[in-house]
Amino acid sequence: MPELRGTVGGPVVTEWFGTQDLYKLDVYKQKGGYAALRKAMVDMKPVDITNEVKTSGLRGRGGAGFATGTKWGFINRDMPGPKYVVVNADESEPGTSKDRYIIENSPHMVLEGIMIAAYAVGANQAWVYIRGEYDEPYRMLTEAIAEARAAGYLGPKPMGIDFPLDIRLYRGHGAYICGEETALLESLEGKRAQPRSRPPFPAVKGAWGRPTLLNNVETLATVPWIVNHGGSEYAKRGTEKSPGTRLMSVSGNVKKPGVYEVELGQTFRHVIMELGGGPPDGRNVKVFWPGGSSAPVLPESMLDTHTDMEALAAARSMGGSGGVIVMDDSHCIIRAAHRLLKFYAHESCGKCTPCRVGGDWAVRTYERILANEGSQVELDILQRVSDALQNGRCLCGLGDSAGWVIDSTIRHFRSEYEDHALRHECNVGAVTALA
Ligand code: SF4
Repeated sequence: MPELRGTVGGPVVTEWFGTQDLYKLDVYKQKGGYAALRKAMVDMKPVDITNEVKTSGLRGRGGAGFATGTKWGFINRDMPGPKYVVVNADESEPGTSKDRYIIENSPHMVLEGIMIAAYAVGANQAWVYIRGEYDEPYRMLTEAIAEARAAGYLGPKPMGIDFPLDIRLYRGHGAYICGEETALLESLEGKRAQPRSRPPFPAVKGAWGRPTLLNNVETLATVPWIVNHGGSEYAKRGTEKSPGTRLMSVSGNVKKPGVYEVELGQTFRHVIMELGGGPPDGRNVKVFWPGGSSAPVLPESMLDTHTDMEALAAARSMGGSGGVIVMDDSHCIIRAAHRLLKFYAHESCGKCTPCRVGGDWAVRTYERILANEGSQVELDILQRVSDALQNGRCLCGLGDSAGWVIDSTIRHFRSEYEDHALRHECNVGAVTALA
């Protein structure tokens, strides 16, 4: 069981949230905003900034959980020619809304994190690839960038340093796959959003073939706090291998859906039953997705699983995008899995065969089961399709995610699958509205 350190306590990213008009530059500055940028550009060398982020142990909050400082260190700052920072604000994972929450509360915190990252890796241009449906966050970031330009934080000499810097927004094209980092780069370049083969990784050959740092909104919004307080202060929170906090958007069958900042190492029982208020009266938690719809499901009996990445890996799931989706016992797991497979089949970009074909196979198989036409054959097909989608057999994580829906729901709810497929019974009978 991971030890919850929590020697510092209190929120990091949301520390100033709730302050009236925090989205405005003057209010953000009154709270201490842009002090970290000044410290980074005036008092620190770029390599020191990267080392501070390494010391913090911060890991990417977009899905993969890669070590942020290590990623920054992959960019060759001394290489001549353009380098870019690209921010993944495409947030289209079902059940996930934390990046939107951050942008709408404190757009300047996001910009400050971007500027510090850009200076650290030597990128003079940053792009924010923002989900096309996010009108309000787009408007707020547009206004914040204009304020930052007018104040001289962006432009030819931010903080009086000869380091020209600009940030531009790019509205996403409405496909789930645009959130995959290399598909996002294709889309940013004006091409069809399909993932690229790796290597080369974006740090070597990213946007327009140039070294590119790709980070998620929350990851970058955490950076000003780390620069202000020091990486070692951040590392005191959470667990040894998953330090710090993360924002979790809790949705589904809970009384208090919302976005909560959680110190890593807390349990999902705390997140769902205390922060989220638990399921409606008279209902029990049946299952939850601990990291967006892409994360393998966990049943109610695993509510005491800890939120750090190691504990989730041991439970055969992951923290993913921080979207905690809760389903109560009025819902049918077969219908939920069918609904999610329809989503993944629809969003498949079609580039690789297991995903392009397997998703549709799974949807049709679920539909036979739900029409009381199932048998052991259908259960075997689902397992084979699931195997074909996982473990690196697809070019990107969408294939794995589709496979995990099948695999994890069968693993934890085998008797419900057998009721449907072999006995043509549904013990719940409710229609789920997931995704
Ligand atoms: Fe496209 Fe699916 Fe292959 Fe990803 S796994 S590249 S979404 S076909």
